[in-house]
Amino acid sequence: MKYVEKVLKNLKKQNPREAEFHQAATEILTSLSPVIEKHPEYEAAALLERFVEPERVVMFRVPWVDDKGKVHVNKGYRVQFNSAIGPYKGGLRFHPSVNLSIIKFLGLEQILKNSLTGLPIGGGKGGSDFDPKGKSDREIMAFCQSFMTELYRHIGADTDVPAGDIGVGAREIGYLFGQYKRIRNEHVGVLTGRGISYGGSLARKEATGYGLIYITEQALKARGDSLKNKTVIISGSGNVAIYACEKAQSLGAKVVAMYDSKGYVYDPDGIKLDIVKQIKEVEGARIKEYAARVSGAEFNPDCRKIWTIPCDIAMPCATQNEIDEQSAEILVKNGVKYVAEGANMPSTLEAINVFISNGVVFLPAKAANAGGVATSALEMAQSSGRMFWSFEEVDAKLKTIMTDIYNNIDKAAKEYGFEGNYVMGANIAGFIKVAEAMMAQGIV
Ligand code: NDP
Repeated sequence: MKYVEKVLKNLKKQNPREAEFHQAATEILTSLSPVIEKHPEYEAAALLERFVEPERVVMFRVPWVDDKGKVHVNKGYRVQFNSAIGPYKGGLRFHPSVNLSIIKFLGLEQILKNSLTGLPIGGGKGGSDFDPKGKSDREIMAFCQSFMTELYRHIGADTDVPAGDIGVGAREIGYLFGQYKRIRNEHVGVLTGRGISYGGSLARKEATGYGLIYITEQALKARGDSLKNKTVIISGSGNVAIYACEKAQSLGAKVVAMYDSKGYVYDPDGIKLDIVKQIKEVEGARIKEYAARVSGAEFNPDCRKIWTIPCDIAMPCATQNEIDEQSAEILVKNGVKYVAEGANMPSTLEAINVFISNGVVFLPAKAANAGGVATSALEMAQSSGRMFWSFEEVDAKLKTIMTDIYNNIDKAAKEYGFEGNYVMGANIAGFIKVAEAMMAQGIV
């Protein structure tokens, strides 16, 4: 049995019932075969076994009291996956679906994503099965303070720097940071995505969505094309989706559909983003409202049907496994040319195969949504240097980083004989730097 297959088999045996982690590891390790074959010394150093085993997993109790005086207990997680190239870095997700498997898949992906940014950041991820929906501000604060009362001992500006993810936005980061500062008596860059008044970076909020569009623009440009007049579907209506829509529209694309977890809206005249922002960011309401406010727009409660709308470019920006094989086949049949992943692992392995085998330009999450973490690393640089860059400076750096990522994954894919296959290109380009660093640092 080949080395990669042996490692995967063992991983599944040692980590049973972790379906998402198995899925991410299978995608990554399978693409690394050509690199592993070139480097027999990796097997001798058990490099892959170490690569798929987190350096540290912290799981803890998060007790908190709701507004009625009732005590609740949630699970807290921080997976410090790999620090070969820099301090652990990766978001915190608060969502009822969170479990160890999901945090581990996100952490594993994060190692390669962070490497692709070209910045010195290792991979980590964390979160809780706490659901912020429907909670009062005081309840959110109580939960965040309790979460940080345990997490603080494991993180630090040079050790592990968490950020936001699903369910963790500016409000949650503020409460988490306040509690860290209170316990440690340190005002340092221990979390990113902070507010501008206390050490945050301009353009961090926009970064993942804008970055997704910048890398898509590069892929289009390389094929003599542009976003102008392209029909685009963006799933989700959270942080990534909203700012992807904003930038896509500013470059002349027509975004016709978006969703939240209760259904999608289709607006053949093009989504009016100010209305989406009002509903999602200001009112915290359901996207269904959009159809009630905009004439000609339709609502459908079945999220998956969003992929039956014909489009040139599909951008899944909500959550894992949103596009399965059947949805991918419908997208292809309807003429999709580009798929760029804003969310983490939104396409199943089968869906990815459908896209690649049909010649769709497929930009995988670890490359396409790396703009968020890259800008978090720019926030870390500003914090430690006591500097504050303008929106334009940060945005220009983000654009350069996304262009470099595109060029690097394109080059790696070509070098290994898989031209145009960016799953191979991203995994290989991200892995090589981490592998070199791990080999140089001995058996640790
Ligand atoms: P938000 O919490 O801001 O938004 C998430 C969106 O996805 C909401 O519209 C939500 O709908 C929807 N959603 C969540 N779960 C489901 C589901 N099961 N079915 C349908 N819709 C769902 O999160 P972000 O925008 O920050 O993150 C979105 C994705 O992007 C995640 O995969 C995240 O890991 C990834 N990502 C985020 C980065 C960032 O900088 N924020 C960086 C890199 C990746 P509802 O409101 O109804 O729950």
